[in-house]
Amino acid sequence: MNKHDEVEGQHGKHNAKVCENAAGNSRKQILKMWQRNLTMLLLGLLSFSSYAQKLEFTLHKKVGALPGPTLLVIGGIQGDEPGGFNAAALLVTDYHITRGQVWVVPNLNFESIIKRSRGVYGDMNRKFSKLKSADPEYIQIQKIKSIILDPQVDMILNLHDGSGFYTPTYINRVANPDRWGQSIIIDQESVEDVPHGKLGDMARKVIAQVNTTIGVPDHFYHLRDTRTRLGDTEMEKTLSYFAVRNGKAAFGVEASKEFLTHERSRFHLMVVEAFMQQLGIGVSRDFELTAQDVRRRIDSNVQLAMFDNRIFLDMTNARHQLRYIPLKKNAPLQVTPSNPLIAVIDNNKALNVRYGNRNVTQLGGYYTEFDDSLTQVPLLLDGEPRQATLGSVVDVQDSIRVETPSQYRVNVIGYRHAGSDDDSHVTIRRQDILPKYSVDKDARLFRVEIYRGTRFCGMVLVRFTPQPVAALPAQQLPRSNPLADDT
Ligand SMILES: [Zn+2]
Repeated sequence: MNKHDEVEGQHGKHNAKVCENAAGNSRKQILKMWQRNLTMLLLGLLSFSSYAQKLEFTLHKKVGALPGPTLLVIGGIQGDEPGGFNAAALLVTDYHITRGQVWVVPNLNFESIIKRSRGVYGDMNRKFSKLKSADPEYIQIQKIKSIILDPQVDMILNLHDGSGFYTPTYINRVANPDRWGQSIIIDQESVEDVPHGKLGDMARKVIAQVNTTIGVPDHFYHLRDTRTRLGDTEMEKTLSYFAVRNGKAAFGVEASKEFLTHERSRFHLMVVEAFMQQLGIGVSRDFELTAQDVRRRIDSNVQLAMFDNRIFLDMTNARHQLRYIPLKKNAPLQVTPSNPLIAVIDNNKALNVRYGNRNVTQLGGYYTEFDDSLTQVPLLLDGEPRQATLGSVVDVQDSIRVETPSQYRVNVIGYRHAGSDDDSHVTIRRQDILPKYSVDKDARLFRVEIYRGTRFCGMVLVRFTPQPVAALPAQQLPRSNPLADDT
């Protein structure tokens, strides 16, 4: 997320409270308190609406410097359509809007996404006509409806992954009029008297543009008009028809489930960009729109900053379990995910980190006091002096040596330093560290933890990489903490 983003979740409204009195409690009580703090974190940061850990969607407003129309993009109305919600998440994290606005709800049915279900409480895309107030998703539906109806919103795209290939005439079992993949769906040819209300014309332009880029006729997009008003009782209940009924230009966008997730996301982004272009929204992105680059961005967009960024975990290709993560005593857990599809779930023993439909890792923690007196630590990376900010990743080819100031000590997790609990002022190579202590499965990424006495100051991740290090800047999340005002 860049600094132009305005994240509108429910965080802050639940007032995570600091537990004051851990000292003197038994270990079990402390563990319990930690769990309670964690739940509070989840309440606060990830927008759980209650103690029962309800995952709620987030709205990300990306505002260009120049005025222009507002496009609302929605992903994840069904939890088992990862092409759509990963594309929407990339819009949040990797796109810059220069003209107009793009509002993104990348995780509309967040609970179902995290639980890998189409719909934990039934199909959410059938709840936009009539819905009982007792429905567990009633409040979420009301919220998204009000966003759709916001006078600023000019157009809505609802991203789906659909079966096979929609074609106007029967070609074969996979490509025929009963399939949904590779289609842009409208409920009717036009919505009267609204800007951009000529839905059919707009969709045909987008399709022509996208198909030129696709080039492979079997993968072409087609327009599908469901003519909902004329008696399609199923489509009457959908989000897009709710929008159309209320005078908004809305489209369903389907990528085919015949493709892998990252390929579907790439198609979705091509379509979204074509709509942006038609609307005159100015945009740039941080990656090439190739299948390979989209895959790389999806796979590597999984980081977690904790405790005001004193800990930063890059969980790309992470091990199934990461143990002994320092957790701040007597304080709520603070977590800042790099991606709106990340959820941290308390299973009463550890923290399960989920990313969309994926299980990322399980974090095991231990409680300790923190020390805030240090923000950087001097290092020698391949013999070159550098300052590493706590809560960052540094790349090194051959060796690292931490030149910790006196009063501080270093623990390089997995490095066996006979007769000492301080790994400062020692040249350490990758082969000196036990591979099983790495953060990643390839045993390249290792934790360097700085302490003052028993107090934890922060962590630096060292990545042993075959690439030249000079070209690689240190990675870290912004130091801001969305919970800072709430605790
Ligand atoms: Zn769908």
